[in-house]
Amino acid sequence: MNTPASGGESSAELLRPEVSAPVHELVHESSSAQWLARYQHSLMGVFGTPQRVLVRGAGALVWDADGKEYLDLLGGVAVNALGHAHPFVTSVITSQLATLGHVSNFFTSPTQVALAEKLLQITQAPEGSTAFFTNSGTEANEAAFKIARVWGNQNAKPRILALEGAFHGRSMGALALTAKEAYRKPFEPLPPGVEHLPFGDLNALREALASQDVAALFVEPIQGEVGVRPLPTGYLKAARELTRQAGALLIVDEVQTGIGRTGQWLATPEIYGSGFSPAELPDVVTLAKGLGSGFPIGALIAVGSNISGLLGPGSHGTTFGGNPAATAAALATLHTIESTGLLGQVRTRGEALRKALADVEHVTEVRGSGLLIGFDLDLPIAAAMVQAALDAGFIINSPGPQTIRLAPPLILSQEQSDSFITALPKIIGAAQTPGESGTK
Ligand SMILES: *Cc1c(COP(=O)(O)O)cnc(C)c1O
Repeated sequence: MNTPASGGESSAELLRPEVSAPVHELVHESSSAQWLARYQHSLMGVFGTPQRVLVRGAGALVWDADGKEYLDLLGGVAVNALGHAHPFVTSVITSQLATLGHVSNFFTSPTQVALAEKLLQITQAPEGSTAFFTNSGTEANEAAFKIARVWGNQNAKPRILALEGAFHGRSMGALALTAKEAYRKPFEPLPPGVEHLPFGDLNALREALASQDVAALFVEPIQGEVGVRPLPTGYLKAARELTRQAGALLIVDEVQTGIGRTGQWLATPEIYGSGFSPAELPDVVTLAKGLGSGFPIGALIAVGSNISGLLGPGSHGTTFGGNPAATAAALATLHTIESTGLLGQVRTRGEALRKALADVEHVTEVRGSGLLIGFDLDLPIAAAMVQAALDAGFIINSPGPQTIRLAPPLILSQEQSDSFITALPKIIGAAQTPGESGTK
């Protein structure tokens, strides 16, 4: 009845096409080799050659364009919290898209408000705290950087601290916070004022804060990109006290560790250690990866009204951030994690997996929490292991020459976890003798 006069019923139907399977009309079937050849001619080379062409997923499994099956132990780099094509998440996104997919931030929507409330609840943020939504982790950290800068400008504190080994994203502000020289160098000059302190060194932090001219300290509870390195016990707790005394904000990047990855909603309480109370929350928490189970969304939580007020009307914004579809995806993710008791399962599954890994020959150290796991090998074979694992039907990641990272879907079953442990000695063997590829 409300459709434009020119259309009538048939145009109303056109405006609501069936949801089923139109992708095959847009992309025709092809082999992996053909897709990779086309990739080479059409995609910017920033990611190197893709390891496989993936066409389908279900739970913790994915399939490539040649029909080969893989157990996904990387989960889109800690993104596919509920695995692939999760039925509830898919149906919530689909129905939201079929109802209202995007509005600008001149407007709000029920899913946006409900998600903000839910995030404030699960992070135990006090009254006066607020959320800001983005589309990625780097954007959440850009917003955090702006909060730090405003705080610094208001209080004559031009310096911002981050840690060696830090990864906070690739956009210019987040890149200034990221430590790796190779990522930074080509893009200098970066936004000024950022210094990197030795990892886990409280004396260095104490010294850096002594002059009272630091606006903020950015930290990850567990550094993911350097191979899953948790902050030393006591560091975060001390950093909370020291930053508070120095009038500096504590900004915790939980983009990789948040939303159940470690078996808690946030990794902060565990890394903080005994004595953590919500009153000891950081001033700012950033989230992204697992929040939407694969649908792009990031978030920043400003803890308390003082921090929330630092970015006022007109001071920051985003076109897509927090739209109805993305916030519906995140709501469905949080609801599912909660209603299925997944956090407890992540803790037990992760513990068992770390224990089993420690018993594998050539494994020298196992780190991490929940289902964010890094392990070291006594040989520089990590890259070859990634290839051997693919041949054997497993997706893993090598953040360093002797280090493997696992960040599987939180729904990983015990049988799936066991199947990797069973296959691992063969994968390590195959990686030591490259050339004889194929461990099947
Ligand atoms: C992945 C990651 C980011 C960047 O997120 P993008 O969505 O890739 O922009 C920032 N911080 C941490 C800790 C991350 O793991």
